[in-house]
Amino acid sequence: MNKNDKVYVAGHRGMVGSAIVRALENEGFNNIVFRTSSELDLRNQQAVNKFFEEEKPQYVFLAAAKVGGIQANNIYRADFLYENLMIEANIIHAAYVNRVEKLLFLGSSCIYPKMAPQPLKEEYLLTDELEPTNEPYAIAKIAGIKLCESYRKQYGCNFISAMPTNLYGPNDNYDLNNSHVLPALLRKFHTAKSKGEKEVTVWGSGKPMREFLYVDDLAEACLFLMREYDGEEWVNVGTGKDVTIGELAQTIKKITGFEGELVFDSSKPDGTPRKLMDVSRLEKAGWKYKVELEDGIRRVYEEVKQMNF
Ligand code: GDP
Repeated sequence: MNKNDKVYVAGHRGMVGSAIVRALENEGFNNIVFRTSSELDLRNQQAVNKFFEEEKPQYVFLAAAKVGGIQANNIYRADFLYENLMIEANIIHAAYVNRVEKLLFLGSSCIYPKMAPQPLKEEYLLTDELEPTNEPYAIAKIAGIKLCESYRKQYGCNFISAMPTNLYGPNDNYDLNNSHVLPALLRKFHTAKSKGEKEVTVWGSGKPMREFLYVDDLAEACLFLMREYDGEEWVNVGTGKDVTIGELAQTIKKITGFEGELVFDSSKPDGTPRKLMDVSRLEKAGWKYKVELEDGIRRVYEEVKQMNF
């Protein structure tokens, strides 16, 4: 992948896609194509085929997806399954038909079984049952991995997949019902601090463990894999370190300067007890994360402070 190559970033307005565009621009790429969802509905097969025929991108980052936190995944089950299957199937097939040189598909750590041994190695895929709260999303992401793998095996396409852990960073979703835990807690603590409230509610028991990666690190890993990795197997992307939700809440409490109490709401689901990535495949390939969790949260908090919730 060279600076003048035509690169299509699907999902360029999302947290991941926008970070990939930033990373490409920083490195001097000057032929990046993208479309907003109103210009191109990725769930529409004809529209996607037409776009690929007209633009003929050489490299594709597939970062478009319907995403959300534990509650959104659990409630909008049909939407998460249908929309993600359509987006992946349309783009991956069009990439094959239009001879895209290389495609990187982005999955998620929730593809691994709920009770898989920790840390999660790539080979644990499809060895046991999934976590019920995000099973439809996980099934769609597993289908995406298998599409890449199958087009590679049957047609020789250079399609690879990366499985990022929980991500955070600029352009995240701060909706209290639909977002992931880290932006939700940043917003809750920030609001509580500015309004002088006494309590912040944390969903579940606070005991589940999660690993968090700053999205600009993920974007770097994606560029690295696009350039350096042509293996058949998908690759986990994370830090290899995790914290409990209770510890995360304490860190955010400290950063925001909130001085009240934490209340744990046991009516909300905990989800998977732990999903720590084994990142040895990626480290052996030559890439490691840079941004530590506390530094990353401080960076994001600078943006959160400017928001009007
Ligand atoms: P998950 O990684 O797919 O389970 O998705 P989330 O990031 O939404 O949730 C991670 C964990 O954080 C779960 O155990 C949630 O119950 C917990 N959690 C605690 N407070 C919140 C909150 O305010 N919002 C969200 N989304 N999760 C929370």
